[in-house]
Amino acid sequence: MSNYFRSNVDAMASYVPGEQPPRGTQIIKLNSNENPYPPSPMALAVLRNIDGEWLRRYPEPFGGQFRQAASKVLGVPSDWIIVGNGSDELLNLVIRACTEPGRKVVYPMPTYVLYVTLSQMQAAEVVEIPYSEDYKLPLEELVAANGAVTFIASPNSPSGHVVSINELRKLASQLSGILVIDEAYVDFAAENALDLVKEFENVIVMRTLSKGYSLAGLRLGFGIANPQLLHGLFKVKDSYNIDAIACAVGTAAITDQAYKNACAAKVKASRTQLATDLQKLGFQVWDSQTNFLLVQPPQDNAEYLYQKLKAQNILVRYFPQPRLDNKLRITVGTDEQNQILVETLTHLLRK
Ligand SMILES: *Cc1c(COP(=O)(O)O)cnc(C)c1O
Repeated sequence: MSNYFRSNVDAMASYVPGEQPPRGTQIIKLNSNENPYPPSPMALAVLRNIDGEWLRRYPEPFGGQFRQAASKVLGVPSDWIIVGNGSDELLNLVIRACTEPGRKVVYPMPTYVLYVTLSQMQAAEVVEIPYSEDYKLPLEELVAANGAVTFIASPNSPSGHVVSINELRKLASQLSGILVIDEAYVDFAAENALDLVKEFENVIVMRTLSKGYSLAGLRLGFGIANPQLLHGLFKVKDSYNIDAIACAVGTAAITDQAYKNACAAKVKASRTQLATDLQKLGFQVWDSQTNFLLVQPPQDNAEYLYQKLKAQNILVRYFPQPRLDNKLRITVGTDEQNQILVETLTHLLRK
């Protein structure tokens, strides 16, 4: 085919999302870190009451209703909040607004695979700095790389570890570019970095309703930063980037903190149990402040186990890349799902 595309787009690989089998498939789905519990009943009640009039009109361009609700929950003014079509869109906005050829995107590895894809679209230079084996933040190297944008997922995927607030503070104070703290898994963690947005003009914290709030299908995420920083991001967003349904349902969901926290408490209890059960089978299990576990099987057969589990309708995530190709990332399911997983693995390891 003729070269219709920019050379960087021609050269880049597509992002490979986790497998999303069609609805109705009988499967235990532990590959995309979805919440195993249904969304808040309050959110579902709002969804049932949406009528044609909601759809006939354009939505609020900045998600005003959601910003008000999030403002109350987070204790920040509503003009410190940007709402997006999933936090993936917000990550993309930062890269679009801040990078071009010659401007760098920097992050520690391994981490969320989407960062490289979004950077390549923009032909930004990417600097990947390895985490140590025990996932200590390579602070000096990150600062020295001098990114226009530096991404830190905390808690990180696929490792599950948290970067301490103090390390993040040091990083923010030494960077001349923007520090994005991607808190997609914050609802399962012991601490969060929200206070840093008040201390540093170059920090933006990203959150999502996909994991903690059981709304991955809705596509709603939000970022918190000072209004001047957000102003630059608003310039590059689509006029109506969040639809009316997502805004209304998401507003009810974030207002229902009690439900979200109760689900997160169940997930965290199940996470501890699953870690113990897998360790008993000989797996090495990394400490996790998320709703998934990074594990290394005892017989160095991660890809085999991934395939065999899939054949038995249990999906987990396998990353064929250095450092991860001997490991699996397993979403914490309900206790019943986790037990089926453990029983299946017990059989597979005996063979
Ligand atoms: C899931 C995830 C996101 C994206 O979530 P959205 O569904 O786009 O809101 C962002 N960052 C990390 C690290 C994630 O795991």
